[in-house]
Amino acid sequence: PLSLSDMVEARSICVCVRKRPLNSKEVTKNDIDVVSIPGNGTLLLHEPKQKVDLTKYLDNQVFHFDYSFDESSTNDLVYRFTAKPLVQTIFDGGVATCFAYGQTGSGKTHTMGGDFSGKSQNNAKGIYAMAAQDVFALLKQRRYSGLDLCPYVTFFEIYNSKVFDLLNKKAKLRVLEDEKQQVQVVGLQEMYVSCAEDVIKMIEMGSACRTSGQTSANANSSRSHAVLQVILRRRNQVHGKFSLVDLAGNERGIDVRSSDRQTLVETAEINRSLLALKECIRSLGMDSHHIPFRMSKLTQVLRDSFIGENSRTCMIAMVSPGMSSCDSTVNTLRYADRVK
Ligand code: ADP
Ligand code: MG
Repeated sequence: PLSLSDMVEARSICVCVRKRPLNSKEVTKNDIDVVSIPGNGTLLLHEPKQKVDLTKYLDNQVFHFDYSFDESSTNDLVYRFTAKPLVQTIFDGGVATCFAYGQTGSGKTHTMGGDFSGKSQNNAKGIYAMAAQDVFALLKQRRYSGLDLCPYVTFFEIYNSKVFDLLNKKAKLRVLEDEKQQVQVVGLQEMYVSCAEDVIKMIEMGSACRTSGQTSANANSSRSHAVLQVILRRRNQVHGKFSLVDLAGNERGIDVRSSDRQTLVETAEINRSLLALKECIRSLGMDSHHIPFRMSKLTQVLRDSFIGENSRTCMIAMVSPGMSSCDSTVNTLRYADRVK
């Protein structure tokens, strides 16, 4: 139902859902597709055709979002309706944020294009790269070329409430807040970039840092939030900022008895930060005193995303199609439903 020729305008909050295809592992296990995208913006969680023991929430649940992308959707199409309209925002002096939300394996990194660990080949075509290309395309336009805008990139990870710089050997960074509530990540490397390829090189560098590394934060990347920021500066002042966030997996059903302490602490922290994020997005456009951004490091660092008239946010909720992922899928859909 969606085509690339449709015109899209940025809204202050846009919430969409993307379904990935069943993968070969799921097909081998005879997992059943329980997610349908019957029309633009709707998603149906339905009973599988085969006779199986249906869990309580499987009776035809319909969800509505701004857009819904089925398993045949390309990154290109998803980008066009989600992050692309936000590029303009940062040129207009605003703050744009795009979140990829969902359980591990649902397609967050595939969509963002942030996996440069060598496992997969098509990453250059993710949202990171397409947004970078569009930023440089706009910089060349006559109406902006006279503005003296300089693009910079930061790339960091938030794991267990700690910030690590992916562009500086995973250095652990402190977050400070001044009396004017301005939040600063002390020492975060801001790299000047002169073309989209520069941005991709930074992502490559940061992703390698993310998956290797010998520090205590040598965690599975799905347990941390990764934040790529494109910052436009004008005479050294921040003019606009675009944050592209690959969130930690919102796993359900972690067994409390069989999990080690580390896993439980991580999980509690992830849940806390995702809850904080939900609350902050829901407060978008309200008086800044009411935005609970101090609830987590993630929302504290992204404080600018939740205040100001010129803030635009997009959330792409990723879902796996399989019956076996149903718990997490319901969780994801309910979460996305609450932020819209
Ligand atoms: P996440 O980052 O949410 O944990 P990934 O992006 O790593 O998940 O995706 C898990 C696997 O599924 C990867 O091998 C990825 O290439 C594949 N995948 C995800 N989304 C899609 C899609 N829309 N089309 C095809 N393959 C996909
Ligand atoms: Mg991932």
